[in-house]
Amino acid sequence: WVAASLTKKRLTLARFSGDSAAPLATKFDVIVIGGGHAGTEAAAAAARCGSRTLLLTHRVDTIGQMSCNPSFGGIGKGHLMREVDALDGLCSRICDQSGVHYKVLNRRKGPAVWGLRAQIDRKLYKQNMQKEILSTPLLAVQEGAVEDLILTEPEPEHPGKCRVSGVVLADGSTIHAECVVLTTGTFLRGVIVIGLEMHPAGRLGDQPSVGLAQTLEKLGFVVGRLKTGTPPRIAKESINFSILNKQTPDNPSIPFSFINETVWIKPEDQLPCYLTHTNPKVDEIVLDNLHLNSHIKETTRGPRYCPSIESKVLRFPNRLHQVWLEPEGMDSDLIYPQGLSVTLPAELQEKMIKCIKGLENAKMIQPGYGVQYDYLDPRQITPSLETHLVQRLFFAGQINGTTGYEEAAAQGVIAGINASLRVKRKPPFVVSRTEGYIGVLIDDLTTLGTNEPYRMFTSRAEFRLSLRPDNADSRLTLRGHKEVGCVSQQRYERASWMKSSLEEGISVLKSIELSSSKWKKLIPEASISIDKSLPLRALDVLKYEEVDMKLLATAVPEPLKKYTECKELAERLKIEASYESVLFHQQQQIKEVQQDEALQLPKDLDYLTLRDVSLSYEVREKLHFIRPETIGAAGRIPGVTPAAIINLLRFVKTTQ
Ligand code: FAD
Repeated sequence: WVAASLTKKRLTLARFSGDSAAPLATKFDVIVIGGGHAGTEAAAAAARCGSRTLLLTHRVDTIGQMSCNPSFGGIGKGHLMREVDALDGLCSRICDQSGVHYKVLNRRKGPAVWGLRAQIDRKLYKQNMQKEILSTPLLAVQEGAVEDLILTEPEPEHPGKCRVSGVVLADGSTIHAECVVLTTGTFLRGVIVIGLEMHPAGRLGDQPSVGLAQTLEKLGFVVGRLKTGTPPRIAKESINFSILNKQTPDNPSIPFSFINETVWIKPEDQLPCYLTHTNPKVDEIVLDNLHLNSHIKETTRGPRYCPSIESKVLRFPNRLHQVWLEPEGMDSDLIYPQGLSVTLPAELQEKMIKCIKGLENAKMIQPGYGVQYDYLDPRQITPSLETHLVQRLFFAGQINGTTGYEEAAAQGVIAGINASLRVKRKPPFVVSRTEGYIGVLIDDLTTLGTNEPYRMFTSRAEFRLSLRPDNADSRLTLRGHKEVGCVSQQRYERASWMKSSLEEGISVLKSIELSSSKWKKLIPEASISIDKSLPLRALDVLKYEEVDMKLLATAVPEPLKKYTECKELAERLKIEASYESVLFHQQQQIKEVQQDEALQLPKDLDYLTLRDVSLSYEVREKLHFIRPETIGAAGRIPGVTPAAIINLLRFVKTTQ
């Protein structure tokens, strides 16, 4: 390890001091190709698991680069970040050191579907990520373009055509490893597009990865093509913010990481965002110039949930579309107009921007552009993210057809852990759909595949009431520590303490009974809909919106006061109480579905006429077209709800 860590220091020094003669080790446990959001997590996770790891990427100074929006999190995505953090991943902690505007989305709904989100200082994120990566023990970093894979005979005990044993760089040099993780994002045969101009590039200013794409195709991997795009950047000083709707950050800010109580910056020092809208003039410019826009003419699929302005105008004409003006950083002069991803020729982009309220005098600093790239059908990988075709080769991130930093990070951490476990000949670490959004993401990809950029939503998770952002540590940290060793002792101890305190707290709350005279003092008259003379369990009193642990402890100081001393514990007890009865019901349903996952669905079942089974027409139509073989497969069809599966299961069992 001393040698490895010295190698790492030499490599880092080699990069920063220009000492190109510094020697490079030629054999590692794990090589990760790509320093984006999947690659950084994969490399750090493999190293945390004790594997000597090399991160090979085009440029050290683009490690952690946010290719598009300067923000992390959101609905479903914030959940993934909490889970990455629960496995001691990096992105949540780095966001807590780099955010400039923290806001929880979906507050009107319950905490199970809150979306932790923050605007991030692009420069700071990159700096903090690079600092973290370059100081991770057992992790070396090397610049280089990987052009090919070194392949050897497969291990007889594992299926697969061949086994990867290293990589070939553009200069012809080779580096060997037990496992290789590929996280090349949008770079495989990447082409960027503005108007009618097309240039080979992974993203603006970066070379594409062509040799590697050819290698993968030659190996027999099924390759598809997807596209995405990014908006222009606008000079901050050229925007008239005074006439726009201002959005202020939350106070207090909720950190992404379980190990942080606060973020690096006070809410009053954070930056605002502003909202404006498109108008019919924008539609007109888009529609009049479709012939000058090759990206939009491409039949390749783009992101459904983060579409370009052209797609929105074509799909929903005559509507006003939101444009959020978001800061790119604390000292940045740029504004990112979210919602305005566009590939028109640059001069038309500027003309379009100037039609929008508040942007009449806007100065465009960088035009928006599109990118088209190869992705690999994710049904070619296992739930551990290892490929079926080539042993010890793992894929993670946008290469698997996903979009978004969080989806990439989530896959990265799992690929890094599993590559390390593979080296140690240990069984893979798999997160199930009932354990986490990471499980939902990977299960969707590996079983259903995708033909459009896949992004996470809470609606994709059947058991979202138990997969909450607040409890990701209870779900994953203990497993991560005990089964794979990717979680630090300090984090493990904290998560164990929290889990046992919650269990103890819930059982205490269940055991205390409050007389009606006591509980009526805590709950406003208007909120009470039960018999006012009955006693209530403390847990049931805590379910009322107006009651929190602090208030409850005023009525029963002993033994409840001690559960108010840790703010997070008190808040989590409140959330647990709110979901207690619904979760009990859901646990029963999970058990019921798990027991019968393999139950065969009748081959001749006519779903379209199943009107008495409480299935929506949309669900019946999906079942009709996909014709799943088992209940488990039916439950994995996007949009088929857990409630629908329960109804279908009960129907099939009664008719068998
Ligand atoms: P990336 O972050 O792309 O990282 C890939 C890394 O691999 C890079 O460091 C690259 O240098 C390295 N690399 C590639 N090939 C090689 C090689 N042969 N040798 C060595 N290193 C190599 N997401 C959204 O959620 N919403 C959006 O609106 C959105 N728009 C986007 C617009 C554009 C123009 C782009 C480029 C991306 C957009 N994304 C968007 C996607 C988001 O940026 C990605 O999902 C995310 O960055 C993927 O992470 P990754 O780690 O898989 O790949």
